[in-house]
Amino acid sequence: MTDFSEYKGIWVFCEQRNGELMPTDFELVSEAARLAKEIGCKVTGVVLGNGMETAAKELGGYGADEVIVCDDPLLEVYTTDAYTKVLCDLVNEYKPEALLMGATNIGRDLGPRCAARLHTGLTADATHLDVDTKEYIEFLRSSSTLDVDTVKLDEDDRNLKMTRPAFGGHMMATIICPRFRPQMSTVRPGVMKKAEFDQAKADACQVIRPAFSISKEDIHVEVLSVEKAAKKMVDLIGANVVVSVGRGISKNVKEGIALAEKLADAMGGVVGASRAVVDAGWMSSDHQVGQTGKTVHPKIYVALGISGAIQHTAGMQDSELIIAVNKNESAPIFGVADYGIVGDLFKVVPDLLKAMEAERAVR
Ligand SMILES: Cc1cc2nc3c(=O)[nH]c(=O)nc-3n(C[C@H](O)[C@H](O)[C@H](O)COP(=O)(O)OP(=O)(O)OC[C@H]3O[C@@H](n4cnc5c(N)ncnc54)[C@H](O)[C@@H]3O)c2cc1C
Repeated sequence: MTDFSEYKGIWVFCEQRNGELMPTDFELVSEAARLAKEIGCKVTGVVLGNGMETAAKELGGYGADEVIVCDDPLLEVYTTDAYTKVLCDLVNEYKPEALLMGATNIGRDLGPRCAARLHTGLTADATHLDVDTKEYIEFLRSSSTLDVDTVKLDEDDRNLKMTRPAFGGHMMATIICPRFRPQMSTVRPGVMKKAEFDQAKADACQVIRPAFSISKEDIHVEVLSVEKAAKKMVDLIGANVVVSVGRGISKNVKEGIALAEKLADAMGGVVGASRAVVDAGWMSSDHQVGQTGKTVHPKIYVALGISGAIQHTAGMQDSELIIAVNKNESAPIFGVADYGIVGDLFKVVPDLLKAMEAERAVR
């Protein structure tokens, strides 16, 4: 059995593409800093690439105490072999207590490979993390149907509690890894909140450049070129404003989507959708917000003709301001909305657009 006392600190594998860190890196470092406060340990970002030192220091501004940077031309573009070798060698040498990474295409490839090589467990696609049992109990109290007071939990338990949707989203399951270290999880992009950037912390963040070895012989594939998918995917997660449509557009789907696009354009945002809209084939799945879609927390979220099922609100309820338009005054969406407009979206949205235009003309 692993000697746990040797394992210390929370690591975040921070992904880069073309030398740029990804938004998930900042979210995860912020979340790791919150967890580290609970147990009093360091947060370490791990960046593999080529010439990454300057970019890596930015992680300090979101809560990393230090960043391990491994630069090498062979790490410039992601390959499973090279990244697995370097990351596992680092883990074996420095022994972090937990290792987090985004559940992005790269994280979903790298995480399981590293977990197998390190002989530890991995929770895939987590949407909530806790270490402190009291915090976890509060999370259960606010988000589950469990009678928390009758559930016996060890208050001194320091295992990372990794919660994720299970059985197609019908249940939430909390997974722990009590027998092996590091505890590993990929975390769904967009669910963890990015902290406010702190320049002083970024300046103070220590960069560590460990010795590591990687050679061409370690890598069994050769990346000849990286081709971007031709289709432009909608960037819901990074958007400041999301205008989503639901089945309420059904009486004139084309017109409903066009209105949402016009409103999103006027507000400088993008268009999202409920699963009903995606299942009906009216919009592609990259627009879906919710438990089995994307989790967003924009400054403004507008829900047009969306009832507010729990699976939808799970993906948008942390938005800073929620505006809902629904013709049914008792639709559950009004329960999470800051502003609710009871009415037909086909009438309300053109009125909103006109009002915005008039407002702009005055300015
Ligand atoms: C395992 C699982 C996972 C799921 N994951 C997701 C997910 O990720 N995201 C998601 O969205 N759903 C998800 N769902 C589906 C979810 O339960 C709901 O069925 C779905 O969100 C409903 O979509 P909707 O609100 O667009 O449609 P409806 O529930 O049909 O609501 C349409 C709303 O539009 C209103 N309306 C109708 N006409 C107008 C009009 N002209 N003007 C204004 N309002 C109007 C109606 O009053 C109604 O409230 C999931 C379900 C399951 C079982």
